[in-house]
Amino acid sequence: MLYAGAETPTGPSAQMEKNVVILGGSYGGISTAHYLLKHVIPVLPDKNSYRVVLVSPSSQAMCRQACPRALLSDTMFPQEKLFVGISGLFNQYPKGCFRFIHGAATEFDPVNRNISIALKDGVSTTTRVDFYALVIATGASTPSPLLGLNQDEHALRQNWATFRAALPHAKSIIISGGGPSGVETAGELGEFLNGRAGWFNPIAPGPKVQIMLVTTGSRILPLLAASAVKKAEKMLADVGVTILKNTKITVVSPLGTGTDHVADKVTLTMESGETMNADLYIPATGTMPNTGFIPKDLLTADGRVKCSRGFRVDEAGSRVYAVGDVASSIKQPAVHVILKAIPILCANMKRDLLTDAGVSAAEDQLFVEDSHANQMVPIGRSKGVGTAMGYSLPSFLVWLVKGRDYWMWTTGSIWSGKHWS
Ligand SMILES: Cc1cc2nc3c(=O)[nH]c(=O)nc-3n(C[C@H](O)[C@H](O)[C@H](O)COP(=O)(O)OP(=O)(O)OC[C@H]3O[C@@H](n4cnc5c(N)ncnc54)[C@H](O)[C@@H]3O)c2cc1C
Repeated sequence: MLYAGAETPTGPSAQMEKNVVILGGSYGGISTAHYLLKHVIPVLPDKNSYRVVLVSPSSQAMCRQACPRALLSDTMFPQEKLFVGISGLFNQYPKGCFRFIHGAATEFDPVNRNISIALKDGVSTTTRVDFYALVIATGASTPSPLLGLNQDEHALRQNWATFRAALPHAKSIIISGGGPSGVETAGELGEFLNGRAGWFNPIAPGPKVQIMLVTTGSRILPLLAASAVKKAEKMLADVGVTILKNTKITVVSPLGTGTDHVADKVTLTMESGETMNADLYIPATGTMPNTGFIPKDLLTADGRVKCSRGFRVDEAGSRVYAVGDVASSIKQPAVHVILKAIPILCANMKRDLLTDAGVSAAEDQLFVEDSHANQMVPIGRSKGVGTAMGYSLPSFLVWLVKGRDYWMWTTGSIWSGKHWS
């Protein structure tokens, strides 16, 4: 369905206040808000009539990339850098031009141009916000709630606490997924629980905790060269992780283990009919877009928001956009890709807002994603593998750039908006 008839409500209140609503308080949403407040709203005629409204079920943003290590213990990272309050990040802008709504979007009505929101303020339960422009940046959730803000910061911390309490009693752990999240999680757990084999401390006669990484693929880390994969396998073996390839898990019993219950014993049934037991199970098998509140006809078959290379959701009416992991025009779910997308999105928003204000504006911009695989995968606290621009990276460089602190050296300027100064 094309929601072409949908237009901005008219009348005095709509004239006075134009809500630019952004859904999602992470890399896509927070960066868009800063960029608009710094570079777009100030140049619009009647700039005081616009207000950026950021909606997020979590009151804190977090360095999601750090989850494979952060889930082990609060001592792994300074917590005040790992989690950062969202509303305070916007105190730097003139009063009245920004509003934070602590809640989750539950319905997007493209015809009447409003968003229903389940509030987390402890008082009211729902509200509805009319939008003049809308940016959907609700990202994607992981099957394991240990690897991101699937709900909010309290739920994430609670899941970590439950998992950590079970860890000292675990003798066996299974992680499914041969991509970077699975490999990083296995590597971190392996080093934390078993230590790393070296010249003077081979892990013998066997690791303290049996850790197994299970993948449906014939190899782990499909984006990396075969030589890098071989190195990764050795690094994993050195921390006591074994790899089971070409294996599909078909049944998880009890149902919900690893997804709803992070510290339960599990029995996994493989496609072959064989079963495996483990004390803990972490599914790290990709992500699901957070789009349950969006009309189905605006979504692609894989559940993301259908948008153009200019990030417009053309079928949803005017001034509706999507960016980040939720957007169909972004192929590689990665922070560096989102940071390249934000200026393109905001240039097109600026053009649309100026045009609607009767001012002629610059040409449209189209996003062209780097086709090279760029990926760094730390394996424990001192090693890792990676590729950039088609070249394999030495372990030391992967440690220096990512493995040292899982990108926390970059998040300060992203959350504060300095990145866009
Ligand atoms: C374990 C792991 C490790 C990763 N490591 C790296 C890495 O090393 N390098 C890299 O570049 N990328 C990495 N990524 C990918 C990177 O984290 C994502 O590309 C990035 O987080 C996407 O940002 P986003 O803003 O699009 O969405 P997300 O980070 O998914 O955030 C979406 C936000 O929307 C909110 N939200 C959800 N539903 C609603 C709703 N209904 N209403 C309002 N708000 C909502 C969520 O609470 C969340 O705050 C990793 C991902 C994972 C899972």
